[in-house]
Amino acid sequence: MADSMDQVQMRVEEERQRNIQKVLARKPAVSSFYCESCGAPILEARRAAVPGVELCVTCQEIHELKSQHYKGAV
Ligand SMILES: [Zn+2]
Repeated sequence: MADSMDQVQMRVEEERQRNIQKVLARKPAVSSFYCESCGAPILEARRAAVPGVELCVTCQEIHELKSQHYKGAV
């Protein structure tokens, strides 16, 4: 009886670890050193403030302006 309980707990723990790995794989909180759009270096403060940041401030602003524009056009 005690053995089967341990096995269940082990399986639950394995499943839990697998889910944590899945979440980590899906959301890599690794910020880019360089802007994905223009290649400009992204400041350390911005990388720290925005986990997973991919764009520099300028490109982010352009991106936001564009999406606002598209929203307004619809
Ligand atoms: Zn950029």
